[in-house]
Amino acid sequence: MDIITVGDKQFEKFIDSQTIDMAIETTALQINEEYRDDVPLFLVTLNGAMFFAVDLFRHLTIDFTMSCIKLSSYEGTGSTGILQEQLGIKENVKNRRIIILEDIVDTGLTYEYIVKMLENMQPRDVRMATMTFKPDSYKKNYPIHYVALTIPSRFIVGRGLDYNGLGRNYNDIYQVINE
Ligand code: 5GP
Repeated sequence: MDIITVGDKQFEKFIDSQTIDMAIETTALQINEEYRDDVPLFLVTLNGAMFFAVDLFRHLTIDFTMSCIKLSSYEGTGSTGILQEQLGIKENVKNRRIIILEDIVDTGLTYEYIVKMLENMQPRDVRMATMTFKPDSYKKNYPIHYVALTIPSRFIVGRGLDYNGLGRNYNDIYQVINE
């Protein structure tokens, strides 16, 4: 299917499933290499990043632990700019090497919020691994350490990314037509 309807919008196929799988595997191999002597703690940002997390974890050969956090900033296809913490960090992160997992980094607001949440908890270091990154929308200076796919600033769905809660289940990534 090259055109899909999600809610009241139409989307066209943008990145095929195989390309996404290969990009995620490459990211996992990089993490395997760089965390060979550590046991990182992955912070999975719900709901969207759970799909990316599973795909990434299947290729990891290192020991790791994981925990989920939940924030929300989006309604429809535009950010509200206000973040709400729905599930915070429950884990003891002191001296742990943290890798935040995101489905997408857009403006970087969510990333900044999580970095600030972690600031007083004394992790050893904090890195970001994201399935998709929109460099033209990014407004922060925090480094994005692992990017599976760099994309233009168009609204996308699929692979865990939703439009008003729908469309997460598509294995390909689709971009909105006539935003
Ligand atoms: P940021 O805080 O970096 O601006 O945005 C991060 C969050 O915004 C993501 O976790 C995601 O929920 C949402 N978001 C940003 N761009 C898109 C997009 O193109 N598609 C979808 N479905 N969500 C997006």
